[in-house]
Amino acid sequence: PTDLNALADEYLRLAYQNLKAKDHNFTADLRLNLDPTLGNVHVAPQDLGRVLLNLYNNAFYAVQEKARVVSNGYQPQIEVTTYRENGRVELRVKDNGTGIPPEILNKIYQPFFTTKPTGQGTGLGLSLSYDIVTKGHGGEMTVESQAGEQTIFSIKLPQSTVYG
Ligand code: ADP
Ligand code: MG
Repeated sequence: PTDLNALADEYLRLAYQNLKAKDHNFTADLRLNLDPTLGNVHVAPQDLGRVLLNLYNNAFYAVQEKARVVSNGYQPQIEVTTYRENGRVELRVKDNGTGIPPEILNKIYQPFFTTKPTGQGTGLGLSLSYDIVTKGHGGEMTVESQAGEQTIFSIKLPQSTVYG
């Protein structure tokens, strides 16, 4: 049994600390809306942790990039939400970063697809995460994005992985 809320919280702080260690001036507004009734899920924490880190690292990269191009008045924000819905568990990661242009939305899950400079991205994060969630656990992974505005990644885990 893995406490998804605790993992979502811990990995968000970990990703933020990793980033701040390299970029001392960077600050982001982190929001956690964690459903206290969520309970545990039957998913290995290292699998779930890998998915979370990939989503978080992408979100932080997107807000950092936007902070670079937007001159002032921009406050990077990452919001993580969990909830139960019809016995399933959903986790959402929303960032107000660069967003994803519609013409590349259908490519982001392809292995090795990246828009990042050499050395900054392997293009494997989402491909791996998608496989862990869907093939590994019978879940779903979806994305909604407005270029220049925001991105929301959502993972849904089936009832079979939810305790109680
Ligand atoms: P990588 O991070 O190594 O580039 P990923 O598979 O994690 O590989 O992501 C693939 C691509 O999807 C990224 O290069 C980027 O273009 C896009 N992407 C993923 N997450 C976000 C996000 N939160 N905001 C903007 N673009 C994103
Ligand atoms: Mg990535």
